[in-house]
Amino acid sequence: MAELLIRNAHTVLTMDDTRRELCGADILIKDGEIIDLGVGLTTRGKVIDASGCVVTPGLVNTHHHLYQTLTRAVPGGQDALLFGWLKTLYPIWSKFGPEEMFTSAQVGLAELALSGCTMTSDHLYLYPNGATLDDTIAAAGEVGLRFHPTRGAMSIGESDGGLPPDALVETEHAILEDCVRVIDRFHDPRPAAMVRVGIAPCSPFSVSRDLMRDAAVLARDKGVMLHTHLAENDEDIAYSLANFGCRPGEYAQDLGWVGDDVWHAHCVKLDGAEIDLFARTRTGVAHCPCSNCRLGSGIAPVRAMRDAGVNVGLGVDGSASNDVGNLIGEARQTMLLQRVAQGADAMSAREALEIATRGGAQVLGRGGECGQLRAGYRADVAIWDVTGVESAGSWDPAALLLAGPTRVRDLIVEGREVIRDGHFVKFDLAATVARQNTLAQRLSQRV
Ligand SMILES: [Zn+2]
Repeated sequence: MAELLIRNAHTVLTMDDTRRELCGADILIKDGEIIDLGVGLTTRGKVIDASGCVVTPGLVNTHHHLYQTLTRAVPGGQDALLFGWLKTLYPIWSKFGPEEMFTSAQVGLAELALSGCTMTSDHLYLYPNGATLDDTIAAAGEVGLRFHPTRGAMSIGESDGGLPPDALVETEHAILEDCVRVIDRFHDPRPAAMVRVGIAPCSPFSVSRDLMRDAAVLARDKGVMLHTHLAENDEDIAYSLANFGCRPGEYAQDLGWVGDDVWHAHCVKLDGAEIDLFARTRTGVAHCPCSNCRLGSGIAPVRAMRDAGVNVGLGVDGSASNDVGNLIGEARQTMLLQRVAQGADAMSAREALEIATRGGAQVLGRGGECGQLRAGYRADVAIWDVTGVESAGSWDPAALLLAGPTRVRDLIVEGREVIRDGHFVKFDLAATVARQNTLAQRLSQRV
C-alpha cells in the first residue's frame, strides 16, 4: 500500500501515554500503520491537507445493537422503562431476517463512521428467520470499519418465565454450536485484525446459569472475549437478588465472567465492592450514557470507576434506546453526566475523549495497537474540521466536546480513506438509507 501523509493539522491529539498534543503536525502512514508523527514530514504518496483540523485517534464504540436502527422511535416504546420497552420491541424484531440485519447494520455503521468511529463492537442476540452474525460482518466489510461482532444469545423464553417470546430464543446447544462456527469462520487473532468475534449471551436474565458458564469456558478455549449487559438499572439489581441471591458483580464472578477478556455494558448500578472487583480483575465496562438517560436507568459511576482503575469505554447502545448512534455526542454526554452527578470539575472534555479512544480500545483488547496516534499503532484516524460554525470563536478547538463539530471531515481506517470531505469514498450511503426506510415501512405494516 502506498504512503499517506496527513499534513499540517491544527492540533493532533495523540492520546498516547503522555497525552502529547502536537500543533501544525503531520502523520505519516504506510501499510495501514502509523510510521511517524511530527512537523515537516514528507512523502511521495498521497497527501491529506489537515490545516484547520483537529486530528484524533478514531473513536471506539464498545456496545451497540446495530439491528435496532430499524426500530428507532417506535411509538409504543418511546417512553417505557427497560423491561416494558423490550416487550414492545420483541414482536417487531421477530419479523427480521437476513436482509433487515444487513441493511440496519450498514446504517448503524455508517452513522458511527460519520461521528468519528473507526472500530466498533456489536451485540447481536437474536437470529430470527435465518439471520446470522455473517449478515452484520458482511455489512461492516462494505462500510469499512474495524469490527468486533459478538455472537449474542437468548435461551429463556416466555414459557420458561423469561422476558422474550419463545420465537426469539434458541436452544443452548444450538447457541454454542453457532458460536464455534462464527469464531472458526471469522475471528482473526492476528495483529491489525479487521474482524474479531466475541461471545455474548444477552444478559444474565435471558440465558441460564449453565450457558453463562459454558460461554466463558468456550471463550477461553477459543481465545475470544466475553460480553453481556450487567447492572443496568434498579430492576436489574432486584432481579439478580431475587433469582440468583446475589448482586450482579458476584454472579459474574461466580460464573467466570471477570477478567481482561470480559467487558460488561452499562454497569450503572455497580457498588463500591463491584467497582473494586472490576478494577482488580481488569474487567472492562461499556458506558452508554445516552441510553441510560433515554431509559431513565441512572448515572453510571464512571468517575469512581476511573479513579479505581477500571477500564471504561463508550457505547452508543442500540439505536432503539438512544436513538442516535453518534459516538462523539456520546463522549460529550459522558462528560456532562459526570458533571451533573459530581460537579463541573468531575470530568474534562479531554478525559471524555480519552475514554472514547484509548479507553475503548483497551476495553476491546486492542489497547496495544489502536486508540492512540503513535508510531507502530494502526492508522485509525478521525479528522475534524474546526473552521466551521460550531467551532467559530473557540479559544481551544482541541477541546472538541465543548463546541464541535460532531461529524468528521475525513475518516481513515487501517490506512484506508473511508470518508473524505464528509462523504463515503466507496460505500453508497444514499442507497442504503433508502433501502432501510423501505424495510422500516414494510415492518410497520406487518405488526
Ligand atoms: Zn445494549
